[in-house]
Amino acid sequence: KIYNLGSINWDHCYRLTHFVRPGETLTSSAYQRNLGGKGANQSAAAARAGATVRHIGAIGLGDSSILSLMKEIGIDTGGINELAVDATGHAIIQINQDGENAIILHPGTNRALSADWIDRQLATAVSGDWLLMQNETNLIRETAALARKRGLKVAFNPAPMDKDLTLALLEKLDLLIVNEVELQDLTGTDELETALVQIRQQAPELAVLVTLGAKGACYQDPQQREQVSACPVQAVDTTAAGDTFIGFFLASRVQGAAISDSLKLAGAAAALCVSRPGAIPAIPTRQEAEQFLLG
Ligand code: ADP
Repeated sequence: KIYNLGSINWDHCYRLTHFVRPGETLTSSAYQRNLGGKGANQSAAAARAGATVRHIGAIGLGDSSILSLMKEIGIDTGGINELAVDATGHAIIQINQDGENAIILHPGTNRALSADWIDRQLATAVSGDWLLMQNETNLIRETAALARKRGLKVAFNPAPMDKDLTLALLEKLDLLIVNEVELQDLTGTDELETALVQIRQQAPELAVLVTLGAKGACYQDPQQREQVSACPVQAVDTTAAGDTFIGFFLASRVQGAAISDSLKLAGAAAALCVSRPGAIPAIPTRQEAEQFLLG
């Protein structure tokens, strides 16, 4: 089972002729509200990959339609608290005529979690379970410690990157998952091998998964090194590609698959995601990913 401590957002998308200027009121030509947040995306990917995933997070009062949406995707929403202190995390996304965006992000209840609530959600964990975290909620450090105490393995995707937090956590993680930009922000080098050596020096036991965009992904732990190329697809929208890769990879590992097979499955799922518009709607099912791998 995967316990995913992660953000839950409403993404409010508005199509506009141009970005709103100071003092201006602008009428939008189209509106869409989507479920988002790296946390929810990764839970969705892990669930579609066939894993049991309990999302740990929080939403504002009266927003339970978000729970129905997540349940429909197959996510266990029992770990999502309803809090009165703030609104559900949300993004106000302006999209102009050139397809560029300008975004206001309000973290809301994603940053209002309590350690007590989180620890209660982890209490049902058994040996072999994983905690997954991104960096869009509060209590990352504390949750890693709670999970370790309860015997879970800990995977961390430091997005957005907080270098000090991540360096302080390295030795307490089992798996670090970063993309190229995050790896460079963390290590100060854009050279993959140099960066991996640097991490190895600081945390010799740590497994590191680096997603490399259209170049694929690379995995390294003390026992092995694996590399996969990306599956060739026509890229339409890369939103949630990384989240899809992470959810599928961890789901596959929890289900007992080998690293190399997990990388292949995750690469296929992420490629499918890239070939479709949107975030969560673009995340394929396990069956689709397996079929895609067969060619
Ligand atoms: P992020 O979404 O965090 O920026 P990446 O850009 O590294 O992450 O993409 C995550 C994964 O998505 C890659 O490891 C790869 O498997 C897949 N992917 C990304 N871009 C493409 C592409 N153009 N074609 C095929 N697969 C892709």
